[in-house]
Formats: sequence, structure tokens, C-alpha cells
Amino acid sequence: MKWKPRCAIAPFLPPTPRSPDGNDIFSADMIDSFFGHYWSQLGLTREQFLNLGARRFGDPWEPFAMTVLALRITRSANGVSRRHGEVSRQIWSVLYPDKAEADVPIGHITNGIHTRTWTAPLIADLYNQHLGRDWSLKVTDRELWQRIKDIPDREIWQRHLILKERLIAYTRAQVLAARLKRGEAADDIAAVDYLLDPNALTLGFARRFSPYKRGALLFKDLQRAIRILSNSRRPIQVVFAGKARPGDDEGKRLIQRLMEWCRHPALRDRIAFIEDYDMYTAELITHGVDVWLNTPRRPTEACGTSGQKAALNGVINCSVADGWWCEAYQPGRAGNPSNGWVIGEDAGTNDLETQDHIDAESLYGLLERQIAPLFYDRDRHGLPRQWIAMMKASICTIAPQFNSDRMVADYITHAYLQDMVVDPEPVVASPLV
Ligand SMILES: *Cc1c(COP(=O)(O)O)cnc(C)c1O
Repeated sequence: MKWKPRCAIAPFLPPTPRSPDGNDIFSADMIDSFFGHYWSQLGLTREQFLNLGARRFGDPWEPFAMTVLALRITRSANGVSRRHGEVSRQIWSVLYPDKAEADVPIGHITNGIHTRTWTAPLIADLYNQHLGRDWSLKVTDRELWQRIKDIPDREIWQRHLILKERLIAYTRAQVLAARLKRGEAADDIAAVDYLLDPNALTLGFARRFSPYKRGALLFKDLQRAIRILSNSRRPIQVVFAGKARPGDDEGKRLIQRLMEWCRHPALRDRIAFIEDYDMYTAELITHGVDVWLNTPRRPTEACGTSGQKAALNGVINCSVADGWWCEAYQPGRAGNPSNGWVIGEDAGTNDLETQDHIDAESLYGLLERQIAPLFYDRDRHGLPRQWIAMMKASICTIAPQFNSDRMVADYITHAYLQDMVVDPEPVVASPLV
């Protein structure tokens, strides 16, 4: 039968279904209509082509999965953090029935950020003075970053405070503009003048509002969160920013709830939501908060890079052990402070409610018993000495490893050159034979 193209008009297409592991899958029908002219060009039969996307080889009636297609035809595959490599080997071991899970040919190369792009100019200037003007050409040099410890506490703290004030000014301006534009009540508009306090411990959470990132975990127990944030001796405040994907209704509802909490009388000076999240907002937030909060549902964070951006600027990470944080977190050791905090633990349960409860309780405990006491412990010059030691540990342990110079070098040696030098055995038994 001669194949005829169908007209691809969006409203007639079913929404993209998603498999449980989050990968796009398509019915054989859809593959027929879009790729029907394709397999003869490749010298394949329809069955062979459909097999390329079938999880269980030889079962072409399964939905066609893009990740399966990619794994079947690629020369090499890697996760984007050590943890993501482990999880990917587990998920995709189904494609390699002859191999033990540990031998599934998916490695990892951890994502890294472009250091100079994400370093605030005020902080970069400090690096110019103390690491040398060519520091940004040597970002993988661990010894170089050790010199962070020689920066006088007062200098790094003063610059950090300037960045924080700048973020607060920007946040007020953005929130005011959004409230005026929506014609909100005069009272809510006047309240912007009191939004956020430059002296208070400030947490940041800015990223896509996908449900798996659990953007509202801090408010799991609203009364408890109110007590912690509005503590009169040790107040805590949070700057949120982010967008949901267009089709992500749960993510949108999460943002709506946050916006409502921003008007709660007990919280309205303490939490702010910046709309229209973009790179500029991301920059100001990763430069200007004290703590970077990251609360993904394990093990769904492939890597996460915003915490790397924050760390470069002396912001301290407080994160669930997932993605990059599994390999970046360092507990304190003799004479060296830890470089951040780990929230909760994996309870090994599929019950999301139970896991959320455990993680929220852990976060509350960390904020009350460790993070706030450390931040508000000042010497006679008003400097939080132990806190600054952690800021420095955050910079010098994270900067040399989680940068794009190291990442690109890893891709060259472990992926690109590897494949060129060693003529690889086909990664998967080729479905074409
Ligand atoms: C870095 C960045 C992200 C990624 O952040 P994650 O921590 O990986 O979620 C998303 N959006 C913007 C604008 C960014 O700069």
C-alpha cells in the first residue's frame, strides 16, 4: 500500500504521552504517520524501524520511546552526574539483558557551569585580587581555589551584603511592578516597602516549578514554617522565582499557592516570588542569597546546576542528596567546615507523602538548629565567622570541580576521543542484524 503523508495539524495530534520514567513515547500509529517514508530510505522494514524504539527488543508493538532509540543507535551514552549514571543504568538495564546492572554501558560526566559567567563582578574582582587576574583561565586548579581562605572575612562578607541588598532592591521593584500591573489592593502594594530585610537570613529557590522539584516543601507544615520564618531573634526569608512548563498544571498550581502565601499577613514581609524567571533574575538570586535551597524528589534530579552557580558566589547549598549534590557535599572534618547541608534521607518508600514529611521535618530541624544559629552568631565586629568559613569551603570545594572546563575535558577524554581511538564494539546488539 502506498504511504500517503497526513497533514500534521496540531489540534489533531494527541498530546505526547509520557512513560513513567519521564521519557517521550509515541504510538506506532504516530511513528507511521511521521516516519512512514523514512524506513525505506534507511533500508529498513517497518518492523525493524519500530524495534529501534521498543524497550523489549522484538516487541515492536510497544510504544516507540525516544530514549530507547537514542541508546540503540548511539556510540556512547552518559548520565550528567554520578547519581544520574547509577539511576540510568538501573532504568535502562532492560535494554541490555545480558549484562549485570553495573556493566550497563552508560557512564557519567557531571555537568558544570561556566565559572566567569556566573560569578558576580564584585566577587570576580575579589578573585582578581587574591587568586590573580588570570584565575578564570585556571578554574580547575584546586590549589588556586585554596587561596580563597586568605581573603579577609570582612571583605568577602561586605561584598556579599552588597549583592544581597541589590537582590532585595530588584525583588521589591519586580514585585511592585507585578502588583501594580494586576491592580492589586493598595494595602498589598504598600506592603512591598517592607518586603525582605537585608539583615535577615535569606534563602533562594529559583528554577522550573516542576512538581518533582517540590518548590513548596518548606510550607508542608504552614504553621511551623510561619514560626520559623517569623522568629523575632533569628528571622528567615525566602526569595522564590520560576516558571512552570506551559502544559504543567500542577506546577502552575504550586506557583499560585506560593503567590497566595506571599500575601499571608504572617509571611508577607518574609517571602517574595519573582515572576518571569529569566537568566538575569537567576543571576541576581544566585549572587545575593545566603543559602541555596534544593528539594527534588529522589532520584529525579539528573544534575541540577543552579547550586553550582550559587556556590561560586559564596552562597551555601542546602539540598536533598540527589543529582550533583551527592558528589559535591563534603561533611566537616578536622579543622575544615562542611561545604553545605543535606536535607533528609531516602526512606526507601514509594509513599510520596511519607517522604515529603521526612524531608520537611529535616529541613525545619536544619533551619532551626544549625543554619539560623550559625548565621546569627556574630563576633564583636558583627561578622558571622563560622558562616564565612562555610562560604569559603563552599567556593573552594565546588568551584574547581563543577565547571564547564572540567566538563568539556571529560567529554573529550571519556566520550569523544574514547570512541575515536578505540573502535568500539557496538554498545547494544545492533537490532539491524
Ligand atoms: C541554571 C538555570 C537553570 C537550571 O537550574 P537547576 O538547578 O538545574 O534546576 C534553569 N533556569 C535558568 C534560567 C538557569 O540559569
